[in-house]
Amino acid sequence: MNILIKNVHLLEDERGVRKDIYIAGSRIAGIDQAPEGFKAEVTIDGSSSLCMPGLVNAHTHAYMSVFRNYADDLPFEEWLFGKIDPLESRMTAEQAYWGNMLSITEMLRTGTTCFVDMHMFPEMCVKACADSGIRALITRGLVGSDRHDEGGLRRLREALDEIDYAADVPEAHVTFGLGPHAIYTCGEDYLKFIAETAAERGLPIHMHLSETQNEFDSCLREHGMSPAAYVQRLGLLEGPAILAHCVYLTDEDMEILKAPAISVVTNPASNMKLGNGFAPATRMLREGINVCLGTDGASSNNALNMFRELGLLTLTQKGAGLDSLAMTAPETLQIAVEGGYRAIGLADEAGCIEPGRLADLILLDEEAPNFQPKHNWKAALAYSSTGYEVTDSIVHGKLLMRNRELLTIDEERVNYEIARAVSHF
Ligand SMILES: [Zn+2]
Repeated sequence: MNILIKNVHLLEDERGVRKDIYIAGSRIAGIDQAPEGFKAEVTIDGSSSLCMPGLVNAHTHAYMSVFRNYADDLPFEEWLFGKIDPLESRMTAEQAYWGNMLSITEMLRTGTTCFVDMHMFPEMCVKACADSGIRALITRGLVGSDRHDEGGLRRLREALDEIDYAADVPEAHVTFGLGPHAIYTCGEDYLKFIAETAAERGLPIHMHLSETQNEFDSCLREHGMSPAAYVQRLGLLEGPAILAHCVYLTDEDMEILKAPAISVVTNPASNMKLGNGFAPATRMLREGINVCLGTDGASSNNALNMFRELGLLTLTQKGAGLDSLAMTAPETLQIAVEGGYRAIGLADEAGCIEPGRLADLILLDEEAPNFQPKHNWKAALAYSSTGYEVTDSIVHGKLLMRNRELLTIDEERVNYEIARAVSHF
């Protein structure tokens, strides 16, 4: 589809001059200069809009939105093993699909155009991505004791089968990785086996790491080293790796995580809600680690709203660090955009608005009352935005939301199916 966004303000343009963006197929084809023979099928008046790259939610479990506001105000272990795990084991694939659709609805409405997912229901996230048009890096969550563990092998097989399945779903803009859940749910040999498989298949690793003090202390006790050193020793950090949380890190861990193929996803709301503390995001950023931002699942957040999350990130780093300069608005936005695209291997393909890049863009209403007066747009986005100023969303050159109306998702149906799913809880 050819789209022309006329007279729009680009976030990167400090002077605030307005430009025309030409989108042809999946990419930005020109700025202020129409590509030869360009004929717009859709023209968007951008004269009261701010345009920026879509945000990347670099760690979530999209199906989990069915658990939103179901189990709250509990200790971490009781929340995960006592409440969420038993429900999850009774959940059906169809319920997971609608959970995915609900999460994607919320993400598209609040400016996320790409997410990194860890799931338990093969094919459902791929299907939801194909139906909605959003972009994702998908990993089937893996749990097992060793390379001979039947359940562990089944889950790994499902992860690989899902990649083959998606090859026949060209409308899904998805890539894949392997998702060992965590060091406390995967045995040493199983983790080694996953590392070997990832290397063989050229797949990134996506896992939870060093999320709680308990995980850090247990790893030290059982393996004589930190969680980051442990997964490095097992070979999980040889290729691209997306590590969620990393709240507890030693100085040596900082060195390990500096490797260019590694990304750390910080999830401030989830860490605070589960009482796990504050990740050293500022220090990681200063050390040169690729930091990106995620919401985690809707049962530990309880929103998949990246604008809320980036506001929390900058505020908590300032507050916990007793330093008002700990993390600036531009740094927070860089984490939520460039950091995320780098994590998923799209650093050269998306994340900025220039010809040749993928057209993954959002428009925000510049006239929203919380954006007045118009002093500083990056500050407005980091400190004033609710996320619901987003009016339009384009992924892979396709318009998914126009004037706040989702074009690929029937929201009424999503809400109905979710209500039906949770009536059995
Ligand atoms: Zn998670």
